[in-house]
Amino acid sequence: MAAIDGLPPLREVIQRHGLDAKKSLGQNFLLDLNLTQKIARTAGPLEECTVIEVGPGPGGLTRAILSLGAKHVVAIERDARAMPALKEIAEHYPGRLTVIEGDALKVDFESLTPPGEPVRIIANLPYNVGTQLLVDWLLPKRWPPFYRSLTLMFQREVGLRIVARADDDHYGRLGVLAGWRTNARIAFDVPPQAFVPPPKVTSSVVHLEPIENPLPCKAGALERVTQAAFGQRRKMLRQSLKPLGGEALLALAGIDPQRRAETLSVEEFVALANALD
Ligand code: SAM
Repeated sequence: MAAIDGLPPLREVIQRHGLDAKKSLGQNFLLDLNLTQKIARTAGPLEECTVIEVGPGPGGLTRAILSLGAKHVVAIERDARAMPALKEIAEHYPGRLTVIEGDALKVDFESLTPPGEPVRIIANLPYNVGTQLLVDWLLPKRWPPFYRSLTLMFQREVGLRIVARADDDHYGRLGVLAGWRTNARIAFDVPPQAFVPPPKVTSSVVHLEPIENPLPCKAGALERVTQAAFGQRRKMLRQSLKPLGGEALLALAGIDPQRRAETLSVEEFVALANALD
């Protein structure tokens, strides 16, 4: 029996193409089209947009994005075994799906779509790849960035770090970078049983929208202060920031040297980065 989008059920697609999940590629597939549609809907209206999807695998999320009317989808997948399944989806939605076989960590995302094109990025990725890409998307050369939004699946723990702010145990480098340049929120959690095979932990869909005019600050300097401060998060800042100027730097930024990293707001980290610069 066909699924709601007229294509064969994902379980059958996976079987027919021998797409047994590979641990080395972080493969945990979503087979429920209602759930993948919920993720795609979280991204916002798709009709006018090109969606860049990273790690489509057998195409559950890809199908949801297309069925919700995305103008065009550019999907980047590392696993060659997924290509025939993705080709079937491309044939079902003529001219609307472009598949690139390759490693997303090596892709120049900005060059995938024409300048000025409204772009949304949606991905369910292995967590280490997702975190690295998120940092790259938060720190591109130009700001505002080429995309309108990021809708990404993470382990819940990582999601909490992305949306964490001062005085939260999960607050760290990711929270500062995301808080500086985006409005980030956890849209909803996804239990392990929703995936095949199920991962060990709960996942979260995180939605981030770029702030057009974030506080002026050099990304490199912000990275250096957050790395030093959170590298020794239990220590007072006068100690953890010693290699970057310690008390003198803190005085310049107007921050009490006895405070600890996790008490500083994003604005205060920006002040420190600007003092360092
Ligand atoms: N999007 C599908 C879904 O939701 O069912 C698959 C999700 S699965 C968690 C992650 C996918 O990312 C796999 O298809 C895997 O092959 C792919 N992948 C892993 N590392 C990648 C990389 N560096 N570049 C592109 N794709 C990658």
